[in-house]
Amino acid sequence: MKEKGPITGEQIADLLELTRATLRPDLAILTMSGILEARPRVGYYYNGRSGNTLVARAISKLRVKDIKSLPVVARETVSVYDAVVTMFTEDVGTLSVVDGDGYLSGVVSRKDLLKIAISGGDVHKMPVGMVMTRMPNIITVTPDDTVYLAAKRLITHQIDALPVVRTFVQPNGQERLEVVGRLTKTNITRFFVELANDEL
Ligand code: ADP
Repeated sequence: MKEKGPITGEQIADLLELTRATLRPDLAILTMSGILEARPRVGYYYNGRSGNTLVARAISKLRVKDIKSLPVVARETVSVYDAVVTMFTEDVGTLSVVDGDGYLSGVVSRKDLLKIAISGGDVHKMPVGMVMTRMPNIITVTPDDTVYLAAKRLITHQIDALPVVRTFVQPNGQERLEVVGRLTKTNITRFFVELANDEL
């Protein structure tokens, strides 16, 4: 196809000494996957895109909103103990922490909580707000950010999860972040597996 395209199905069949019917499924797959293009009365031709380029394009188009999970949040005032219970019941490793108005104020991870547990702190009394990583040091993404950007942030900052946020501008002009989801390494791994299932 690279050498002889555009070329009709019949001509390909002649060259390969196959019937047109034998070739049909292969041509259909190559056309559907975007590797070949077909023009009526012109024939098939190779469009220069390899399978890798197609995968790269699929990844670069993917947005956070396409693969994000529901948010799991805890109030700043809940105890470290309750935060641990929430992690178990919700089956997550990171919680977004919100203030009294429901806006993002921090993030707490498994190890943040373990640190307090082994340091002998009173996990029933200590509020999660005292052990969390606090705003403005929270790394976030928006629903319209690309998954590629999210993945880069996870790697660069060596963290497992990002709160997905929408900016809410208050009447006094102050910006607060509303938590609308979470994007984790698991979301990205799941997408990776689904992509491979389609391609393999
Ligand atoms: P763990 O600490 O359980 O290995 P992480 O690697 O995600 O989990 O977290 C490492 C540290 O980074 C923790 O102190 C945590 O509070 C903080 N952290 C986690 N997610 C974020 C985030 N999105 N923005 C800023 N800090 C974060």
